[in-house]
Parts: sequence; C-alpha cells; structure tokens
Amino acid sequence: MNLYDYNTVNRILTAHGFTFSKALGQNFIIDPDVCPEMVENLCAGEETGVMEIGPGIGVLTKELCKTAGKVIAIELDKRLFPVLKETLGEYSNVEIIEGDVLKLNLNAVIKDKFSGMSSVKVCANLPYYITSPVIMALLESKLDIDEIVVMVQKEAAERLCAEIGSRNSGAVTIAVNYYASAQILFEVPKECFYPAPKVDSAVIKLTLRKNPPVHVKNEKHFFAVVKAAFAQRRKTAMNCLSNGLGISKSKVSDALKALNLDEKARAENFSMEDFAQLSEII
Ligand code: SAM
Repeated sequence: MNLYDYNTVNRILTAHGFTFSKALGQNFIIDPDVCPEMVENLCAGEETGVMEIGPGIGVLTKELCKTAGKVIAIELDKRLFPVLKETLGEYSNVEIIEGDVLKLNLNAVIKDKFSGMSSVKVCANLPYYITSPVIMALLESKLDIDEIVVMVQKEAAERLCAEIGSRNSGAVTIAVNYYASAQILFEVPKECFYPAPKVDSAVIKLTLRKNPPVHVKNEKHFFAVVKAAFAQRRKTAMNCLSNGLGISKSKVSDALKALNLDEKARAENFSMEDFAQLSEII
C-alpha cells in the first residue's frame, strides 16, 4: 500500500468516511522522500523504541516500523484508528495509543512500553497548533529519551534552533538549549503535504544533553527570568525584567551592573550563562 500515492490515500480515507480536521493540524506527508530522510536521521535500530506523536494515516509510522524495534504512536483522533489498522496491518511492532499527547503521562508510557529497549527516541510530524507545548513537555518531563526528530513550521524551526545571542533567538531557544542541542536538518516545502498547509516546514533534531550547559539552583526561577526578559522584544531586557518580575528598575540595574551587562541590552544579546547568573542574583 503506497501512502505516498495521492489516489491511494484518497481511496482509503474515503472508504473510512474520513474528512480532515484543520483544528487538529491534519496535513499528511505525501512526498516519498521526507519520511525516509527523517527516519535515516533518527538512526533507530532493532534495539530502539520510537514514540510517534500523531501518526495520521501512518505514513511516517510505516517507515519507523521498518527500522525500529518497537513503535508506539499516540493519536488523538479516534476516527483514524480503523484507517491505521488497515495501513499498518502488516507490522507487528507497532501499537497505537489513544489520547492527547499533552495529557498523557509520557514517563509512564515509556516505562511501560519500552522496557528492555536500549534507547528511546521521539519522531513526529507535529500538529502545528501545539508545537512548542509538545516540545517543552518532552524536554521538561525529563523523559528517558535521547533524541527527538520532528517536523515543525519553518519559522518555529528557526526560532527553536537559533543561535543564542542571534536576532532569531527567543525564550524557547534558551529553554530548548538548556535541555538539548538543536539543529535544522532539512526544509520541507508545503507541497509535500496533503492537504497543503499555508507555510513551509522544516525537520529539526534535538539531541538531549546529559547535563545542562549551565548550573542553576532554581530551574523554575531561571525560566521565569528568561521568559520575562523576552516578553517584549522591542524593549530593553531591564524594562522587561522589571515589568515581568515585578521588581524595581534600580534593582535590575544593580544586578546587570554586577554582571557587567549593558543596561540597554535586549534579551537576545544575553548568553545562557548571563541568564544563569542573572537568575541567581535577581
Ligand atoms: N504523521 C502523519 C504524517 O506525517 O502524515 C500525520 C501528521 S499531522 C501533521 C498531525 C497528527 O497529529 C494528526 O494525525 C492529528 O490527528 C494528530 N494530533 C493532533 N493533536 C494531537 C494531540 N493533542 N495528541 C495526539 N495527536 C494529535
């Protein structure tokens, strides 16, 4: 069954009375090169467990089943279950879990489904309406995974993988970098999907760090400082920090001076280490 063939996909979906839900970000990959390239970059083998988020019609799932030892795919839309039964029928190493990825206990899923596997990775063409929350949930839950290869909107990819200190960087760049090293692997034009979305996409790879690149005593406060500093991109970090954290400008100014940081700087000018030190003294 060729899921890269538009007519085949249409025939299967029509037979199951399936109609696409825009709200669930349902744009399925139809280009034959994208999924194999994603899986190649994931470097999964017989001993690898892969968790997929949103299998859709199962086009990426199929490629994962060919190389990984076990695949667990989490899908929110129940209407896709009979479709997936048909499209993945030939594979015995896949299980579909019904649920919202943001509500499931992913630590429990991994422990339960992948015990005995030598490594666990995440691979997905993410529903775009929840890209950042899903990525942050995967990182913050401190799951026992070592790699994440996901497709996201091109703009989101540029933000997530931006160099810290560059104009493209934001609070999410710092957050992702705290947990992982991030790189854009390749871009995917909108025509590679059915139905085609309005924007282009990119596949990114996050390699999880064993230890964060900076030492912070209180992670929650560190991320609150980062979030506050980036809250209004056109304002100076000093104003943002004062407004966002509810502390006087003079106190923020003292902290910046103590760290030899420019009072007129914007958050994008600060390094990860600057944020770590700021969060210790603010
Ligand atoms: N993997 C397929 C592909 O590449 O063609 C489909 C990807 S499509 C962009 C996103 C998929 O995520 C859809 O199947 C959608 O139903 C599912 N989805 C949306 N929100 C979800 C959620 N909160 N939890 C789990 N799956 C979700």
